[in-house]
Amino acid sequence: MHILVIEDESKVAKALRDGLASEGYNVTVAQTGEDGFFLAMSQTFDLILLDLMLPGRSGIEILNGIRRKNRDVPVLILTAKDAIEDRVLGLDSGADDYLVKPFAFPELLARIRALTRRGRIDLALKLKVANLEMDCVTRKVTRDKRDILLTGKEFELLEYLMRHQGHVVSREMLVHDVWHVTDRATPLDNVIDVHVNRLRAKMDADFDNKLLHTIRGVGFILKEGDEP
Ligand code: CA
Repeated sequence: MHILVIEDESKVAKALRDGLASEGYNVTVAQTGEDGFFLAMSQTFDLILLDLMLPGRSGIEILNGIRRKNRDVPVLILTAKDAIEDRVLGLDSGADDYLVKPFAFPELLARIRALTRRGRIDLALKLKVANLEMDCVTRKVTRDKRDILLTGKEFELLEYLMRHQGHVVSREMLVHDVWHVTDRATPLDNVIDVHVNRLRAKMDADFDNKLLHTIRGVGFILKEGDEP
């Protein structure tokens, strides 16, 4: 999996290169808009991580160039906090998703996984974590063969957690991917807590080995084993 990182801040670029390489990705870094544009147009990548504020050529120009060439490579844009207009412009210009800086690395990994998985038709229809099982077709959930009845939202939340099992899911990710809210003016922390608590009561309360763990200040993780 080859990722092109277009980012001019040396520190951020290095952190991205090292972090992604340690996850097994093959990473190429471009630190100017010109280099990034040239690489994006001349080589094939599985994903492009694109900073919008670049010297030379802006991220939006690069994105326009890529889409004009009809290249359907997934593009994840990195935007500064509060630069809502950039984000909108980026999505309008054909970006697939965005992350607001500073972001948590696990969140970036999750977005990359989601974008590179998209389009694959073998998305698992049966999910399993320890003795918790979900059938995404019949929408039946069981734990230790006992039925667990969930509301629509609880099901969606659990499916998301199961698809990210073993990985930290942040509140940002839940807001974005489960509640589908892109406007953070709406505070959803309480709503998320209520749903997580109800889900936990239904799937974990009666069992000694807990699967759903809260990671204070970060988010949640669904995994086997008592330690979060
Ligand atoms: Ca920049």
